Amino acid sequence: MGKHFDTKSVHLSSIQDKKINSKSTPIYQTSAFKFKNLEELESFYQGKNDYLYTRVGNPNTDELGTAVAQLEGAPSGVAAASGTAAILAGILSVAKQGDHIIAATDIYGGTYQLLANELPDLGIEVSFVDFAEGEEIAGHIKGNTKMIYSESVSNPLLRKEDLQALSVLANDAQLVLMIDNTFATPYLSRPYEYGADLVVHSATKYIGGHSDITAGVLVGHEELIERAKQKVVNLGSSLSPFEAWLTCRGLKTLSVRMERHVANAQRLADELRKHDAVEKVYYPEDVSPLGNGAIVTIDITGTCDVDVFFQSLGWIKIVPTLAGVETSVSYPLATSHRALPEETRERLGITEGLIRISVGIEAADDIIAGFNEALKQSKRR
Ligand SMILES: *Cc1c(COP(=O)(O)O)cnc(C)c1O
Repeated sequence: MGKHFDTKSVHLSSIQDKKINSKSTPIYQTSAFKFKNLEELESFYQGKNDYLYTRVGNPNTDELGTAVAQLEGAPSGVAAASGTAAILAGILSVAKQGDHIIAATDIYGGTYQLLANELPDLGIEVSFVDFAEGEEIAGHIKGNTKMIYSESVSNPLLRKEDLQALSVLANDAQLVLMIDNTFATPYLSRPYEYGADLVVHSATKYIGGHSDITAGVLVGHEELIERAKQKVVNLGSSLSPFEAWLTCRGLKTLSVRMERHVANAQRLADELRKHDAVEKVYYPEDVSPLGNGAIVTIDITGTCDVDVFFQSLGWIKIVPTLAGVETSVSYPLATSHRALPEETRERLGITEGLIRISVGIEAADDIIAGFNEALKQSKRR
């Protein structure tokens, strides 16, 4: 296989069916696998036969886990039924009852709910620390601390995490560093190469890329992934073969999609920065030499009527997700960040006029024209 990311992401198939020779990977849409005799069945438990029962393992889900691991430069990976399921499996591979983890405050709203509402019920204590404010993280480390959790590029305000510094800190304290790389994708950022131990994706977003699946992938050190796989199996959060197949299909075009997404987002951010109806544009810098991501967040609280803005978007859809090939907008206050305490929201800048734009792969001029029109209609005079 070629050395370059663009080549690896296209030639991801690791499955060879010697009898049929199909060009694309078949879909193993089966709940279980058959055995000729007891000896063959026994050989599964001896680790010689790969597949038994789809919840425990399936060629399509394995293909996805392995492909993303390769693109992240990590030795091993596992797919799960959603990004959230992959995050839980990653955390539980490291922390158990009585342990403590430290997480950045400005994480994805669903992850915040998992960490704030569910982990304490499992006996895992979580401290939310304002990494953005440069709050001293080391001061929160205790004897039972096991993990530091953050996102390579945060949501929705697009803070770029200092992976190098976090990795040094985690390493010195012998903690596992887990990074959600959903927004950046391995095309722009590979946290494992910076020393993260576990890297997680909501494959629902750019890895799938077409807004037609819900899936997650966790990659990292072999022994951690082995434990995470057991969590996925025992908690029943395996991904279905068809969803895994669709996700692999999406993954093959990750490079070309990202190239266009990123170029369009940069142009839109530059245009909106010049626009007098936009108070603030959040778009990171220096994420990677290949660009800065495909999400642009704007604040129009004081300048525009937010309801009118949303009504004036024409072909641009209002969708509470991101990363599809179509440009869409979401409203963090009412959706992804609804669960955050008001005081936290205010501190993070999740305002009434905050709009998160997921820039698609359409012609940049059409995207810019669409937003100019909505701003013109909604601007307060
Ligand atoms: C969407 C998202 C998740 C959750 O993924 P699901 O597939 O919806 O479970 C986690 N982290 C980030 C950054 C996300 O955008």
